[in-house]
This record gives sequence, structure tokens and C-alpha cells, in this order.
Amino acid sequence: MILMVVFMVILLLVGLWNFDLHKIVRVKHVARNGGDAAALAAARWQALTLNMVGELNILQAAALSEALANGVSNSPAAAACADLQGRLCFVGPLTGFAASQLAAKNNGIFVNSDFTQEVADHATRVRLEYDIRYPDFPYANDPGEPSCWIDYANMLDIIAAQGIAAKCDSFRFYVDFADHDHFLLNPDFYDAVATRGWCWFFFNAMTLLQDYQSWKDWPPLPIIEEPHPVNAEYFGLYLRRQTRLDNLPFANGSDSALNSSNFIATASAHTENALDPRVLSVASDWYCYQESEWTAWTERIPEGFPFLAKVRDVYNYAGADAAIKIETPMQRLTPGSPADTISWSAAAKPFGSLGETDPPNRYSLVLPAFHDVRLIPVDTSSAPGGGSEPGWGMHIYRHLTAYLQQGLEGLTPGCYYCDQLRIWEPQPFRQEGLDWLELNSQRCLRTTSGGHSGSGGTRRGH
Ligand SMILES: [Zn+2]
Repeated sequence: MILMVVFMVILLLVGLWNFDLHKIVRVKHVARNGGDAAALAAARWQALTLNMVGELNILQAAALSEALANGVSNSPAAAACADLQGRLCFVGPLTGFAASQLAAKNNGIFVNSDFTQEVADHATRVRLEYDIRYPDFPYANDPGEPSCWIDYANMLDIIAAQGIAAKCDSFRFYVDFADHDHFLLNPDFYDAVATRGWCWFFFNAMTLLQDYQSWKDWPPLPIIEEPHPVNAEYFGLYLRRQTRLDNLPFANGSDSALNSSNFIATASAHTENALDPRVLSVASDWYCYQESEWTAWTERIPEGFPFLAKVRDVYNYAGADAAIKIETPMQRLTPGSPADTISWSAAAKPFGSLGETDPPNRYSLVLPAFHDVRLIPVDTSSAPGGGSEPGWGMHIYRHLTAYLQQGLEGLTPGCYYCDQLRIWEPQPFRQEGLDWLELNSQRCLRTTSGGHSGSGGTRRGH
């Protein structure tokens, strides 16, 4: 009887374990499908929006050309186009945000309450603060109320109300970090504390380990603020306004006059009407690519990234892309197994060209050029590196501010990164590291070729 019972229990455990294993494999598969679909959906809307903004640039040129033929240098039609472009910079990416949620849910991903809360919180912040903080509205409503920022907050609220399943990892808040060189913004620091990885401190942060006294010692976070935002913060297109086209800093063109005439030829071909070259010197609101963001894609690709071939020149541009992240909690049935989080990140990007050989940003001015979206490796996208544990974004954008003001009191319970700061604070912990290094530092091996991330190679090659 006893033997029988023991045998039955073992059989039961094997059964549960087997069930868990299959469940993990299935959830991973679902997360991957849902994540990829969400990234592609958002990127498709980015491509569509860029093409619409491009069409409207050409319509502006056509309207101004016609006005010039009538002897005037302004056109209500051109102004209406510019207004529409200003709205599209918000509506387009946020429609992509909504579409990516739908794609994720249709592929079996559930709403994540943390992600939803983040977007809802941000909508509240936009509603309360942006009218005062950014009085230079990207577009004006007529009559005045509601302002464009209230429109924006309403759109975010609608998306949050439906629940966020796939978090947008291509975001740029108007108030953001200028760089991530601060130790508190470096996930490796937290991992080193968690694992007592003293060698990491030896190579990267020895003075921090020696000199740190309390949380009051941290230098302020490198915060910068966008003064006149015109792009949505989620899945932004990184466009800017330009008053006149004859002083456009045309991409890779030293001969700006030739570039201008090429542009007129390209735009004329689109409208099937010869455009008046004088539109180049007429003041209007043209939408152009932000040169600082639409740089070479190869600048974003980590060194030694295992691409099979070189990036072709025509596709060698960065700029708008769509990265998303999925985190699904998973309960296991096997006794003693902790709950797990299965995560998947994915990125996609609009691809296109002007003619056969020119990248879409050839003229700096946005033109309809995008005809495809593809998945790209996450590490070649605009997604921030991020931490290895869930909650990294929440930690750096929400928890750190309170921590730097109130110290350990300000930390959030249940956050992996906040927990590490609690371990880091007492002096004996750091003394343990110093003592260990005094005896063992010669055993530390530098495992990476240096570099900022310190993780060596790429973490997310898919
Ligand atoms: Zn935290």
C-alpha cells in the first residue's frame, strides 16, 4: 500500500510537471505570435501615416504652385494640408498603438494591468500638465476647446480603457533622460547587486563602491525636455516642421540646388503637373524628417551584430520603428514552483525607397515612399536596452524620482529594481564587496570587449 501511494504521488508530480512544461511552450508560442503581430500592426500604421504626410506635402506644393500662377503666395488649401499633417503626427501613431493591441489580443495575449496603468497614468499627466507646459500647440482646434493636448489625452484614455496587452517600447516622452550613463539607469548595476557580482563593480563602478555613503550621494538624473513637441510619444514618427524648402539641409547632398530641382521633378511626377519651382521659397508648414533621428540605421546596430549581409544603402535609415513588449504571468501547477513571467519583445519597421536607389529621407522632406513593413531584430530598433526583469520602465520613469527625493522610503514594494536599491543601501553590503575584491580582484576576468551595456554581444537577436 505504502509503495503504491509513493508511486502514485510520483506519477502525479510527473503529470503536473509535464502539464506545466507544455503550458510554458504553448504560452511562449502565443506570446511570440502576438508580439510579432502587434509590432507589425504598429509599423504598418507608421508607414501609412508617413505616406499620407508625404502626399500632403505634395498637395501643398501643388496648391502653392497654383496660387503662384494666380499671383498670390499663400493658399488656404496648403494651410489645410499642413493642419492635417499636424494632426496625423498624433492620430497615425496612436491608431497604430490601438491596432497593435487588437493584433496582440486577436493572437491570444491578455491585457496586462501594469501596462494599462502606465498608459492611463500618462493620459492623466497629459490632461493635467501639457496645456501649460507646451503652450506652443502642434495644431490648433477651431473653436479653441478642446486643445490638441486634450485630444491626445482622450486618445490615450480610449486605448487604455480597452486594456494594453502589448506595451509600446518605441516611446519618447517629452521629458526624458538625455542619456543612460547614470548608474541608476543601468540595469547591469542592479543585476550586479542582486548577484553580488563584485567583479562588475571592479571593472565599471569601483569608485561608486568605495565612496558611496547614502542615497543622497546620487547625482541628479540627466533629464531633458523637448521644448516644442510635434510628434506622438508612442510610436512617434520623428518629424519636424520647416518653413521654407530652399534652405532644407538635403540628406547626403552637397549640391542643394540640384537636390531642389530633383525634388520638384519627383513631386511633379507624383501630381502629373509641372510644379512651379518658386514653391521652394514660399513660406508654409512643410513636414520633414528630424535629421537627428533619421540617421543611418547602421549607427543603431550593435557592433558584431550577426546580420548575414550588409545593410543596403537604400534601406540604411533609422527613424520611425515599432518595438513592443509582452509580459504574461504564468502560474505553475507543480508544487513548489514559483509563478513565472513569460516575456517576448519584437520590433518592426516601415521600409521603402524613392525610385530604385534613394532612401525615403533623401530630400529630408517627407514623400510617399513606404511600401512594406518587416520584422527587425529588437536590438537594431529604437527600443531602449531595458532590464532583464519585468518593470524596468516603471522603475526608471516612476520609482527613481521618488527614491532620489525620499531615499528608501520612496521605493516601491514588489519591484525587483527597488529591492536591489534596498540591498545596496546598508554599508556592510558594500564592505562585503570591498573585502572580497581585496582578496580576489585578480580573479576577475573582463568577459566583454567593454562598451556601455557590459553584457557582451546582443541579448535580443530575434
Ligand atoms: Zn522600482
